Amino acid sequence: MDQVTEVRQKTDIVQLIQEYLPLKKAGHNFKANCPFHEEKSPSFIVSPQRQIWHCFGGCGKGGDVFSFLMEYEHIEFPEALRILADKAGVKLIQKNFDSSSSSKKEMLYGINRLAAEFYHYLLTKHTLGKNALQYATEKRHIKPQTLRTFLIGYAPTGSALTTYLIKKKGYTSQDLLDAGLAYKRGNLLFDFFQDRLLFALYDHRGNIVGFSGRILQNTDKTSKYINTRETLIYHKGMTFFGFNTAKETIKKENLAILMEGELDVISSFQEGITNVVAVKGTALTEDQVILLSRFCSKVALCFDMDAPGQEALKRSLAHLEKKNMATLVIVLTGGKDADEVIQQDAIIFKKAIKHPVHVYDYLLDQIANKYSISTAVGKQQIGDELLPLFGQINNEIIKEHYIQKLSSVLHVSHDALERELAKRQKETVAKQQLKLLTKPASKSREEMLETYFLALLVQFPQPKILIEKTLPLLSSYQWHNVSLGKVFHFLSLYSSAHTAFNHEDFTSSLAQELLPAFDISYLLPIPILNDDTLQKETLRVAIELQHQFLKGKVKQLSELIQQKEQEGNMEEIEKMQKEFNELIEQMHRKDDK
Ligand code: ZN
Repeated sequence: MDQVTEVRQKTDIVQLIQEYLPLKKAGHNFKANCPFHEEKSPSFIVSPQRQIWHCFGGCGKGGDVFSFLMEYEHIEFPEALRILADKAGVKLIQKNFDSSSSSKKEMLYGINRLAAEFYHYLLTKHTLGKNALQYATEKRHIKPQTLRTFLIGYAPTGSALTTYLIKKKGYTSQDLLDAGLAYKRGNLLFDFFQDRLLFALYDHRGNIVGFSGRILQNTDKTSKYINTRETLIYHKGMTFFGFNTAKETIKKENLAILMEGELDVISSFQEGITNVVAVKGTALTEDQVILLSRFCSKVALCFDMDAPGQEALKRSLAHLEKKNMATLVIVLTGGKDADEVIQQDAIIFKKAIKHPVHVYDYLLDQIANKYSISTAVGKQQIGDELLPLFGQINNEIIKEHYIQKLSSVLHVSHDALERELAKRQKETVAKQQLKLLTKPASKSREEMLETYFLALLVQFPQPKILIEKTLPLLSSYQWHNVSLGKVFHFLSLYSSAHTAFNHEDFTSSLAQELLPAFDISYLLPIPILNDDTLQKETLRVAIELQHQFLKGKVKQLSELIQQKEQEGNMEEIEKMQKEFNELIEQMHRKDDK
């Protein structure tokens, strides 16, 4: 037995997935809300018998213990294998599992780590970093220990890093370009970051994936912050600044405090508030919310108290609602962002952190104060801003609570607000349907029916009985999904030789490429039916499949007959007409059943 198989066999999929998300028993299987897409009802199914998982919702992902971990942690196979081998107590002998893309990633993590240490050294020890150090410690009040914790550095003008990495560490120019650490002008290579204070950006597993650099003196000529451009390992909107230092407290307190910038996070951290991360960007992305939802179920938004900050707050809400995150707001006074407030008076900041308000109370208060509440136009403006936000609230009780509240604030009947809300929701539903229509078609109805049919068979303890009843109906059936058709064929062969159905025995003789089709049928949630109704249901589906097939053939044949009539081929037409009549007859016979 090879080591991959050994690790797979020693890992229980239910136990593993349960470490990441709560699983509920559902028949033979377990289910949960899919962690890989946003959904409200669980379509993520885990099978202890088959040791696999599959999402029957939007994303359609699935696989075994390795693919779950790879997908969940955004890691490559070798790392997933290492982690699971550790858990299972298997000592890996064979080391060269690396695929080229994963070793490339490892290379980029390595080069970023070296760059971060190099920049940190320049800032804290080297004369080149003297000004930057002064800026960081005196102007921004960053303590020496914090510089180390966040691995803050300084990137000087020129190409110091490039020289260091190529001459001293043996990297190639291409490596530096791939990491986003350098850029090319003509034949010359320059460091990407020039004269900036540098913040390392970590993923949640502690790898440095990129950097953000801040200028030392505010000018209008250049952006205050620039980030590493997109690389194989750095994707904008996937990470937070400070996540690796905040992760443990976020988990412990079940709360993440979200701020806008690096310095907000650093200043809070120095005040002992450590469950803090920076969003880096204008609003939270779906990926960021999915990542957060794995560590906590509550967030407190502490965005800048200016117009863009408030806009970001509103735009972040949709994603947070979809993941059922409870959302609070930290209202800052005495400064425009957390860093400024802390520099003014850390006690005020800590009070604000201790007393967050519910996001919808906050918005109601803010928006109601913006307009004149005594005029019709003012009421309309308030409704226009608030109803779309209240409309997306996931929990019906909370939604009702805020609509009630708005009704009493505006002195407008609850009914009127409900009607206005319904109007808006109709519009968004129409928009969503349009989106669905323009989307490329996923599975056809026939293919879905085929999967369902096979699911009824393989989830029944004795498929033999069902196959004997349905096989005559489907003897000439042409499967839309060829793999499902092949599984059905093998299943009928298997059943003629075995009375009982053993999925392990069956799949061990099944061709490797047919396993996914079998597994999906084995996991597809089907209604709970007693033996008798299940047999009826299976027969009904088989008849429908056959009917669809005959209908298609009739259509095809009548088109052909028309064509032959134009050609005047009488003999051929006669033959086809006979076939046609037989088909029609066959269909009617099916209808009579
Ligand atoms: Zn999914």
